[in-house]
Amino acid sequence: MEHPENSTEYAGLQVNAGVAQPSIVNPYLSQMRKKRHRLFTADEYVEGILKGDVSMLGQAVTLIESVHPDHQALAQEVIEKCLPFAGNSVRIGISGVPGAGKSTSIDAFGVHLLQNYGGKLAVLAIDPSSEKTKGSILGDKTRMEKLAVHPKSFIRPSPTAGSLGGVARKTRETIILCEAAGYNNIFVETVGVGQSETACHSMVDFFLLIQLAGTGDELQGIKRGIMEIADGIVINKADGENVEKAKLAASHFRNALHLFPMPESGIMPQVLCYSGFYELGIDEVLKMVFDHIEQTKESGYFQYKRNEQSKYWMYESINEHLRNNFYFNPRVKEQIADMERDVLGGKITSFVAAKRLLDEYYATLK
Ligand code: GDP
Repeated sequence: MEHPENSTEYAGLQVNAGVAQPSIVNPYLSQMRKKRHRLFTADEYVEGILKGDVSMLGQAVTLIESVHPDHQALAQEVIEKCLPFAGNSVRIGISGVPGAGKSTSIDAFGVHLLQNYGGKLAVLAIDPSSEKTKGSILGDKTRMEKLAVHPKSFIRPSPTAGSLGGVARKTRETIILCEAAGYNNIFVETVGVGQSETACHSMVDFFLLIQLAGTGDELQGIKRGIMEIADGIVINKADGENVEKAKLAASHFRNALHLFPMPESGIMPQVLCYSGFYELGIDEVLKMVFDHIEQTKESGYFQYKRNEQSKYWMYESINEHLRNNFYFNPRVKEQIADMERDVLGGKITSFVAAKRLLDEYYATLK
């Protein structure tokens, strides 16, 4: 018997032929990519940066972060041309352990700063952990809601490639471009663990340490030597029931600071309580920072420190260059794993292994 749906008299729903599926790849994407990756000349970048063109600034920073030798060379040319227009800013380092409230605070500090002091603000970051995670946890726009949409702010996450030295150098070079683009306030965010704070300290005029009450971090700060480099200590989350605890922590920090010699700036660091989330005491923190800057400018310490930092970065650049030159040397790359295995296996001492590798390296230079 014939199936009723095949009958010409069947009035039920018919299945129409489907339409062809569109290509899943956006046909314009390849053109967009090409456009985005188009390189300009150094002069074009510089012209854009000096005009305050955020897109040009962002692209030039991408060049700084690139590992491609051509991009590196172009980036260096751009940096050099921007140098005469750089330096005119207040550079503030902001550090604290994860969860201390850095991004919440930077959002609050930044908005208050732009409101009360004017100018523009760039937020950069040094985050060596991003090298491993391949994603940066600092300087992330989504964590700074108000600043991210502020027309006078420029937020850039931490560069990811390379050693801490490399990451820090890139951030320092980015500062130069931001300053040339008219950003007269620079925040450098860094995570409060390990060496990154020292790197951050070496490129800022004021180093602000964010602490929390009741974490026992007072002692940790002393142990890690971090309190010695702080120009100001602020206790965050001084809101609600936490106010008294924060005040107590502040007095502990004040006492602890007396254990250290007077800072080189000649100014005793202040300890303040505030709440980044509820925006309490923000103006006092900013006042502390800008008063400190003013005093060090008057005493000449501001310029002295910047000169010292330039000297430090000259040596750092040399060190980084030499290190890369050694480790990327083909002969060294070829033999280093074997040497490492021999050292681990107790076949040779570390010193002999190091000497052999260095000899190999020097031999290739001849
Ligand atoms: P970060 O890891 O140092 O950048 O810290 P976040 O800014 O991401 O803050 C960590 C957590 O602390 C978040 O849940 C914030 O909402 C909270 N937080 C930050 N600042 C304050 C504050 O002033 N008061 C209170 N109560 N919570 C805060």
